[in-house]
Order: sequence, then structure tokens, then C-alpha cells
Amino acid sequence: MNIGDAAAAGGGAMLARILVVEDELQIRRFLRTALGSRGFEVEEADTLAAARLQCTARPPDVILLDLGLPDGDGIELVREVRGWSNLPIVVLSARGQETDKVAALDAGADDYLTKPFGVPELLARLRVALRHARRGADAEATWSWSGDGHGFRLDATRHLCWRCEAGTETEVRLTPTEFRVLLCLARHHGKVLTHTQLLREVWGPQHDGDVAYLRVYLGQLRQKLEPEPARPRWLLTEPGVGYRLVGADGD
Ligand code: CA
Repeated sequence: MNIGDAAAAGGGAMLARILVVEDELQIRRFLRTALGSRGFEVEEADTLAAARLQCTARPPDVILLDLGLPDGDGIELVREVRGWSNLPIVVLSARGQETDKVAALDAGADDYLTKPFGVPELLARLRVALRHARRGADAEATWSWSGDGHGFRLDATRHLCWRCEAGTETEVRLTPTEFRVLLCLARHHGKVLTHTQLLREVWGPQHDGDVAYLRVYLGQLRQKLEPEPARPRWLLTEPGVGYRLVGADGD
């Protein structure tokens, strides 16, 4: 059992230390109760300055970070922490602040939650962020997705993909670009990837901003892999932000 699983399962043991950076007392109280009762050791900071001190004095296992802080923007902390650590950072933002979310993710945050959010969603995001931080995104080479008699499987080493239906597997012909897009999402499965992160990884920095490319390739991948391409269950759109490949077996 890893840190995230233990914490999410509410095993009682304090296995992951979380720093909650949030200036609203109500939200801090809610988070302290919700996370404390599920095995997280919760520390709090209500300003950017306090968060900076706590991060350097005793780095937590994960940071839950509000962007709108009284003495500055949470994104500053993302940039600073990324200068010395890969410790997972999950951003809290208000609805309608897509630009802020994207900027935080591009600066190196691992994921985001939009307020108001539910505890199961919060725990799922933290679990994914902690798992990626522990295991490293490149440790895996094969992944599979399944449910209701449908599924697909991806082998990064052999560059192969299969679609599964009613117990039968058929190889899916993916173009090299489709494969790269899918592989990028699979390596970060469970996490949101911004348009910029995907474009940079698949096409290189000169294609920054060609969001239309992504829409086309995601559409093609859904046609090839999803049982109902118009209502994707795995290849999800995060409106205004990017894409997320969810539901990998074992998650
Ligand atoms: Ca705030």
C-alpha cells in the first residue's frame, strides 16, 4: 500500500504530511477535518510567506495550495518549490479562473480542484499526485482500461494498442501522432495535462497554442478507443484547461 492509498483508505496511520495553504479559515477547518480523519497529518499556512517558511523548514509530502492569497499569488510558491523539489502540488481555485489554473499547471502544479469540491474528489486528486511523485511517471510501460465489457490496452515499449470488446482483443492502428498523444496522457494517467503541456510534449515548443490539433487527435482517439466517442469515459476534456485520461486499471 502506498502513501496515497493508505491515506485515502483512512487507515488511521499518519502516512502523508500535507501542507494546506489557504487564507479562508472555513475552508482550512473543513480540510483539516476531512484530511485529518483520513490519515493525513495536516499543517496549515494562511499566507504565502508562512507557506514559504514551512516548505523550507520541513517540506511536506504534498501541498494543497490556494491561488488567491493575501500577500501574493499561490503560483509564486509553485515556481519556487519547483526550483528545488518535485513534491506534489494540488491547486485550489475558484470557478471561472481557467487562466489561473492553466498558469499554475504550466508552472509545475500537479493538478487542481475547483471550489466548491467534494472530499472524494479531493482524495482522488491527492492519491494520484502522491502516487506519481513516488513512482515516477516513466516507471510503467503498459496500462489498461476496462469496464462494462469494453476496454483498451497500451504497450509503450512495443508501441502497440489493443481494443477489447466482449472478451476479444483487436489491435488498434494508431498513427504515430495519435500514439504520442495517447502515451503522453497514459504516462500521466489520472492527472490533468494542459493544452500547452501536451502540445510541447507531442509537437515541441514551436506548436504552443495550436489547441485545434489536440481537439482533432483527441476526437480520433475517442473514435478508436471509446465505446461511446461522444460520451467519453476515459479520455476526458477539462474545459478551458486540457485533457485527462482517467480510470486506468489499478487506480
Ligand atoms: Ca483565497
